[in-house]
Amino acid sequence: MAGNKPKIAFVGTGGTISSIGRDALDLVDYPDSGSKLEVDQLIEKFDLVKEFVEPVPIRFKAIGSTQIGPKEWLELNKTITKAAADDPSITGFVVTHGTASAEETVYFLSLTLKIEQPVVVVGAQRPASGISTDAAINLLNAARTAADPESRGMGALLMLNDEIQAARDVTKTSTLRMQTFRSPDFGVLGQVDGDGVHYYRAPLRRRMPDTEFDMVDVTELPRVDVVPCYGGSDAVAIEAYVAAGAKGLVSAGFAPGLLTPQQDEAFDKFIKQGVTVVQSNRAGSGRVPNRQKLNERGFISADTLNPQKARVLLMVALSKTTNVNELRRIFAEY
Ligand code: GLU
Repeated sequence: MAGNKPKIAFVGTGGTISSIGRDALDLVDYPDSGSKLEVDQLIEKFDLVKEFVEPVPIRFKAIGSTQIGPKEWLELNKTITKAAADDPSITGFVVTHGTASAEETVYFLSLTLKIEQPVVVVGAQRPASGISTDAAINLLNAARTAADPESRGMGALLMLNDEIQAARDVTKTSTLRMQTFRSPDFGVLGQVDGDGVHYYRAPLRRRMPDTEFDMVDVTELPRVDVVPCYGGSDAVAIEAYVAAGAKGLVSAGFAPGLLTPQQDEAFDKFIKQGVTVVQSNRAGSGRVPNRQKLNERGFISADTLNPQKARVLLMVALSKTTNVNELRRIFAEY
Protein backbone atom coordinates (compact mmCIF):
# COMPACT_ATOMS: atom_id res chain seq x y z
CA MET A 1 0.00 0.00 0.00
CA ALA A 2 2.79 2.39 0.91
CA GLY A 3 4.64 2.11 -2.40
CA ASN A 4 6.55 5.28 -3.14
CA LYS A 5 4.64 7.46 -0.73
CA PRO A 6 6.77 9.67 1.51
CA LYS A 7 7.54 8.10 4.86
CA ILE A 8 6.34 10.38 7.64
CA ALA A 9 6.87 9.74 11.35
CA PHE A 10 3.93 10.58 13.62
CA VAL A 11 5.08 11.31 17.15
CA GLY A 12 2.06 11.14 19.44
CA THR A 13 1.80 13.28 22.56
CA GLY A 14 -1.98 13.25 23.07
CA GLY A 15 -4.19 16.35 23.19
CA THR A 16 -7.69 16.99 21.92
CA ILE A 17 -6.77 15.58 18.51
CA SER A 18 -6.39 12.16 20.16
CA SER A 19 -9.22 12.49 22.68
CA ILE A 20 -12.27 10.25 22.90
CA GLY A 21 -15.17 11.76 24.82
CA ARG A 22 -18.38 10.22 26.20
CA ASP A 23 -20.15 10.59 22.85
CA ALA A 24 -20.22 12.84 19.78
CA LEU A 25 -21.73 15.71 21.78
CA ASP A 26 -18.99 15.72 24.39
CA LEU A 27 -17.05 18.75 23.17
CA VAL A 28 -16.00 20.24 26.50
CA ASP A 29 -15.88 17.58 29.25
CA TYR A 30 -13.60 15.11 27.47
CA PRO A 31 -10.37 16.25 29.19
CA ASP A 32 -11.91 15.13 32.49
CA SER A 33 -14.12 12.23 31.45
CA GLY A 34 -12.58 10.88 28.28
CA SER A 35 -9.56 8.90 27.17
CA LYS A 36 -6.75 9.46 24.70
CA LEU A 37 -5.72 7.33 21.75
CA GLU A 38 -2.12 6.37 21.14
CA VAL A 39 -0.86 7.77 17.86
CA ASP A 40 -1.01 4.43 16.01
CA GLN A 41 -4.68 4.12 17.05
CA LEU A 42 -5.29 7.68 15.86
CA ILE A 43 -3.81 6.87 12.45
CA GLU A 44 -6.00 3.77 12.20
CA LYS A 45 -9.08 5.84 13.08
CA PHE A 46 -8.28 8.43 10.42
CA ASP A 47 -6.56 6.14 7.96
CA LEU A 48 -7.18 8.36 4.91
CA VAL A 49 -3.81 9.78 5.83
CA LYS A 50 -2.34 6.64 4.24
CA GLU A 51 -3.56 7.91 0.86
CA PHE A 52 -0.79 10.49 1.00
CA VAL A 53 1.99 9.15 3.19
CA GLU A 54 3.44 6.00 4.67
CA PRO A 55 2.97 6.63 8.39
CA VAL A 56 5.51 5.53 10.99
CA PRO A 57 3.82 5.90 14.38
CA ILE A 58 6.04 6.68 17.35
CA ARG A 59 4.33 6.51 20.74
CA PHE A 60 5.63 9.29 22.98
CA LYS A 61 2.79 10.20 25.36
CA ALA A 62 -1.00 10.23 25.32
CA ILE A 63 -1.66 13.17 27.65
CA GLY A 64 -3.20 16.63 27.67
CA SER A 65 -0.79 19.36 26.67
CA THR A 66 -1.24 21.03 30.04
CA GLN A 67 1.08 18.24 31.23
CA ILE A 68 3.75 19.07 28.68
CA GLY A 69 6.60 21.32 29.79
CA PRO A 70 10.39 21.68 29.65
CA LYS A 71 11.09 18.06 30.60
CA GLU A 72 8.85 16.76 27.80
CA TRP A 73 10.28 19.31 25.30
CA LEU A 74 13.74 17.91 25.91
CA GLU A 75 12.51 14.31 25.59
CA LEU A 76 10.66 15.18 22.40
CA ASN A 77 13.78 16.75 20.92
CA LYS A 78 15.73 13.57 21.69
CA THR A 79 12.97 11.29 20.34
CA ILE A 80 12.77 13.15 17.02
CA THR A 81 16.55 13.49 16.71
CA LYS A 82 17.00 9.76 17.31
CA ALA A 83 14.22 8.72 14.92
CA ALA A 84 15.70 10.89 12.17
CA ALA A 85 19.16 9.39 12.73
CA ASP A 86 17.90 5.81 12.96
CA ASP A 87 15.83 5.98 9.79
CA PRO A 88 17.08 8.42 7.15
CA SER A 89 14.22 7.37 4.86
CA ILE A 90 11.78 9.34 7.08
CA THR A 91 11.17 12.54 5.13
CA GLY A 92 9.17 14.48 7.70
CA PHE A 93 7.69 14.51 11.20
CA VAL A 94 4.19 15.18 12.49
CA VAL A 95 3.79 15.76 16.23
CA THR A 96 0.23 15.35 17.46
CA HIS A 97 -0.23 17.71 20.41
CA GLY A 98 -2.83 19.46 22.56
CA THR A 99 -3.56 23.00 21.53
CA ALA A 100 -3.21 24.48 25.03
CA SER A 101 0.59 24.56 25.03
CA ALA A 102 1.39 23.67 21.40
CA GLU A 103 2.78 27.15 20.69
CA GLU A 104 5.49 26.60 23.31
CA THR A 105 6.49 23.12 22.14
CA VAL A 106 6.65 24.11 18.48
CA TYR A 107 8.89 27.09 19.26
CA PHE A 108 11.17 24.96 21.43
CA LEU A 109 11.53 22.40 18.63
CA SER A 110 12.18 25.13 16.08
CA LEU A 111 14.92 26.59 18.30
CA THR A 112 16.65 23.33 19.08
CA LEU A 113 16.26 20.63 16.42
CA LYS A 114 19.19 20.08 14.10
CA ILE A 115 17.40 18.01 11.47
CA GLU A 116 16.58 19.02 7.90
CA GLN A 117 13.27 17.17 7.73
CA PRO A 118 10.14 19.27 8.24
CA VAL A 119 8.49 19.06 11.66
CA VAL A 120 4.78 19.88 11.87
CA VAL A 121 2.96 20.15 15.20
CA VAL A 122 -0.76 19.53 14.84
CA GLY A 123 -3.75 19.71 17.15
CA ALA A 124 -7.52 19.92 16.96
CA GLN A 125 -10.18 22.07 18.54
CA ARG A 126 -12.75 19.25 18.77
CA PRO A 127 -11.97 15.78 20.11
CA ALA A 128 -11.48 12.90 17.69
CA SER A 129 -14.87 11.50 18.77
CA GLY A 130 -16.75 14.81 18.55
CA ILE A 131 -19.32 15.91 16.00
CA SER A 132 -17.58 17.79 13.18
CA THR A 133 -14.18 17.01 14.63
CA ASP A 134 -11.30 18.72 12.90
CA ALA A 135 -8.92 15.94 13.96
CA ALA A 136 -9.12 14.06 10.65
CA ILE A 137 -8.52 16.98 8.30
CA ASN A 138 -5.83 18.48 10.53
CA LEU A 139 -3.95 15.17 10.68
CA LEU A 140 -4.18 14.83 6.91
CA ASN A 141 -3.06 18.42 6.33
CA ALA A 142 -0.16 18.01 8.74
CA ALA A 143 0.98 14.86 6.93
CA ARG A 144 0.85 16.61 3.58
CA THR A 145 2.71 19.61 4.98
CA ALA A 146 5.41 17.40 6.52
CA ALA A 147 5.79 15.57 3.21
CA ASP A 148 6.05 18.74 1.13
CA PRO A 149 9.64 19.61 0.07
CA GLU A 150 8.76 23.31 0.35
CA SER A 151 8.32 22.88 4.12
CA ARG A 152 12.08 22.36 4.48
CA GLY A 153 13.85 25.33 5.96
CA MET A 154 10.66 26.89 7.33
CA GLY A 155 11.47 25.88 10.91
CA ALA A 156 9.02 23.84 12.92
CA LEU A 157 5.46 24.52 11.78
CA LEU A 158 2.03 24.44 13.34
CA MET A 159 -1.01 23.18 11.44
CA LEU A 160 -4.66 23.74 12.29
CA ASN A 161 -7.68 25.11 10.43
CA ASP A 162 -5.95 24.47 7.06
CA GLU A 163 -3.32 27.07 7.95
CA ILE A 164 0.45 26.68 8.26
CA GLN A 165 1.91 28.91 10.96
CA ALA A 166 5.50 29.73 11.90
CA ALA A 167 6.77 28.40 15.24
CA ARG A 168 8.05 31.75 16.46
CA ASP A 169 4.93 33.75 15.84
CA VAL A 170 1.95 31.46 16.30
CA THR A 171 -0.22 31.78 19.38
CA LYS A 172 -3.54 30.41 20.58
CA THR A 173 -6.05 33.25 20.49
CA SER A 174 -9.42 31.61 21.09
CA THR A 175 -10.64 28.94 23.47
CA LEU A 176 -12.87 27.03 21.08
CA ARG A 177 -12.98 28.65 17.63
CA MET A 178 -11.37 26.89 14.68
CA GLN A 179 -9.28 29.93 13.78
CA THR A 180 -7.64 29.88 17.21
CA PHE A 181 -4.04 29.82 15.96
CA ARG A 182 -2.86 33.12 14.63
CA SER A 183 0.44 34.82 14.00
CA PRO A 184 -0.26 38.41 15.05
CA ASP A 185 1.47 41.11 12.97
CA PHE A 186 2.78 38.60 10.40
CA GLY A 187 0.10 36.13 9.32
CA VAL A 188 0.16 32.58 8.06
CA LEU A 189 2.96 31.09 5.96
CA GLY A 190 0.66 29.01 3.84
CA GLN A 191 -2.55 27.08 3.46
CA VAL A 192 -3.48 23.48 2.76
CA ASP A 193 -6.49 22.76 0.59
CA GLY A 194 -7.79 19.69 -1.18
CA ASP A 195 -5.34 20.34 -3.99
CA GLY A 196 -2.29 20.42 -1.75
CA VAL A 197 0.10 22.66 0.18
CA HIS A 198 0.53 26.30 -0.84
CA TYR A 199 3.17 28.62 0.64
CA TYR A 200 3.16 32.40 0.35
CA ARG A 201 5.95 33.53 2.68
CA ALA A 202 8.87 32.22 4.71
CA PRO A 203 10.25 33.11 8.16
CA LEU A 204 13.47 35.13 8.43
CA ARG A 205 14.42 34.63 12.07
CA ARG A 206 16.92 31.86 12.87
CA ARG A 207 15.36 28.46 13.26
CA MET A 208 16.00 24.74 12.89
CA PRO A 209 18.29 23.30 11.61
CA ASP A 210 20.52 26.42 11.63
CA THR A 211 20.50 26.87 15.38
CA GLU A 212 23.32 27.29 17.89
CA PHE A 213 21.36 25.50 20.61
CA ASP A 214 22.24 21.88 21.10
CA MET A 215 20.01 20.00 23.51
CA VAL A 216 21.56 16.55 23.10
CA ASP A 217 23.35 16.64 26.45
CA VAL A 218 20.95 18.97 28.24
CA THR A 219 18.88 17.22 30.90
CA GLU A 220 17.26 20.25 32.53
CA LEU A 221 16.52 23.80 31.47
CA PRO A 222 17.05 26.73 33.85
CA ARG A 223 13.94 27.92 35.66
CA VAL A 224 12.30 30.94 34.04
CA ASP A 225 8.96 32.38 35.15
CA VAL A 226 6.52 34.85 33.64
CA VAL A 227 5.56 37.82 35.81
CA PRO A 228 2.12 39.28 35.07
CA CYS A 229 1.47 43.01 35.23
CA TYR A 230 -1.81 44.74 36.08
CA GLY A 231 -2.93 47.94 37.72
CA GLY A 232 -1.32 48.00 41.17
CA SER A 233 0.77 44.83 40.82
CA ASP A 234 3.51 44.66 43.42
CA ALA A 235 6.74 42.72 43.95
CA VAL A 236 5.26 39.60 45.59
CA ALA A 237 5.36 37.38 42.48
CA ILE A 238 8.84 38.55 41.52
CA GLU A 239 10.22 37.88 45.01
CA ALA A 240 8.55 34.45 45.10
CA TYR A 241 9.87 33.34 41.71
CA VAL A 242 13.43 34.35 42.58
CA ALA A 243 13.11 32.59 45.95
CA ALA A 244 11.98 29.47 44.06
CA GLY A 245 15.19 29.54 42.03
CA ALA A 246 14.30 31.46 38.86
CA LYS A 247 17.42 32.29 36.84
CA GLY A 248 15.37 34.39 34.48
CA LEU A 249 12.07 36.28 34.50
CA VAL A 250 9.89 37.36 31.62
CA SER A 251 7.98 40.49 32.42
CA ALA A 252 4.54 40.49 30.79
CA GLY A 253 4.30 44.25 31.18
CA PHE A 254 1.82 46.87 30.10
CA ALA A 255 2.22 47.61 26.38
CA PRO A 256 4.63 48.62 24.98
CA GLY A 257 6.79 47.27 27.84
CA LEU A 258 6.08 49.21 31.02
CA LEU A 259 5.74 48.24 34.67
CA THR A 260 4.34 49.46 37.94
CA PRO A 261 6.82 51.34 40.16
CA GLN A 262 6.92 48.42 42.64
CA GLN A 263 7.80 46.00 39.85
CA ASP A 264 10.43 48.36 38.43
CA GLU A 265 12.09 48.48 41.82
CA ALA A 266 12.03 44.69 42.32
CA PHE A 267 13.36 43.93 38.83
CA ASP A 268 16.20 46.45 39.29
CA LYS A 269 17.15 44.75 42.55
CA PHE A 270 17.26 41.26 41.05
CA ILE A 271 19.00 42.25 37.80
CA LYS A 272 21.83 43.57 39.99
CA GLN A 273 21.89 40.15 41.69
CA GLY A 274 22.31 38.35 38.35
CA VAL A 275 18.74 37.40 37.43
CA THR A 276 18.06 37.90 33.72
CA VAL A 277 14.92 39.91 32.94
CA VAL A 278 13.29 39.97 29.53
CA GLN A 279 10.69 42.65 28.91
CA SER A 280 7.68 41.36 26.99
CA ASN A 281 4.18 42.77 27.08
CA ARG A 282 0.63 41.65 27.61
CA ALA A 283 -0.99 43.22 24.53
CA GLY A 284 -0.87 40.13 22.31
CA SER A 285 1.04 41.72 19.45
CA GLY A 286 3.71 44.27 18.64
CA ARG A 287 7.37 44.91 19.52
CA VAL A 288 8.81 45.97 22.82
CA PRO A 289 11.06 48.79 21.63
CA ASN A 290 14.64 48.97 22.93
CA ARG A 291 14.08 51.97 25.16
CA GLN A 292 17.32 53.57 26.32
CA LYS A 293 16.29 53.38 29.95
CA LEU A 294 15.45 49.67 29.76
CA ASN A 295 18.83 48.95 28.20
CA GLU A 296 20.69 50.95 30.85
CA ARG A 297 18.92 49.04 33.59
CA GLY A 298 19.93 45.70 32.05
CA PHE A 299 16.59 44.57 30.66
CA ILE A 300 16.48 42.58 27.42
CA SER A 301 13.69 43.31 24.94
CA ALA A 302 11.48 40.35 23.99
CA ASP A 303 11.03 41.97 20.58
CA THR A 304 7.70 40.62 19.24
CA LEU A 305 7.72 37.45 21.35
CA ASN A 306 4.71 37.05 23.61
CA PRO A 307 5.55 36.22 27.25
CA GLN A 308 5.27 32.44 26.91
CA LYS A 309 7.42 32.43 23.75
CA ALA A 310 10.00 34.74 25.33
CA ARG A 311 10.19 32.29 28.24
CA VAL A 312 10.99 29.40 25.88
CA LEU A 313 13.77 31.37 24.18
CA LEU A 314 15.17 32.59 27.50
CA MET A 315 15.28 29.05 28.93
CA VAL A 316 17.07 27.79 25.84
CA ALA A 317 19.43 30.79 25.73
CA LEU A 318 20.29 30.62 29.45
CA SER A 319 21.37 27.01 28.97
CA LYS A 320 24.20 28.48 26.86
CA THR A 321 25.03 31.92 28.25
CA THR A 322 24.12 34.45 30.94
CA ASN A 323 25.98 37.31 29.23
CA VAL A 324 23.51 40.14 28.65
CA ASN A 325 24.99 41.20 25.30
CA GLU A 326 24.91 37.63 24.03
CA LEU A 327 21.33 37.27 25.24
CA ARG A 328 20.40 40.51 23.43
CA ARG A 329 21.94 39.15 20.24
CA ILE A 330 19.97 35.92 20.64
CA PHE A 331 16.70 37.79 21.14
CA ALA A 332 17.45 39.84 18.03
CA GLU A 333 18.28 36.80 15.89
CA TYR A 334 15.78 34.08 16.84
N1 GLU B 1 -6.81 20.83 24.26
C1 GLU B 1 -6.27 20.28 25.46
C2 GLU B 1 -4.81 20.01 25.29
O1 GLU B 1 -4.11 20.94 25.16
C3 GLU B 1 -6.98 19.13 26.03
C4 GLU B 1 -6.55 18.90 27.41
C5 GLU B 1 -6.81 17.49 27.85
O2 GLU B 1 -7.37 16.72 27.10
O3 GLU B 1 -6.41 17.18 28.98
O4 GLU B 1 -4.34 18.89 25.28
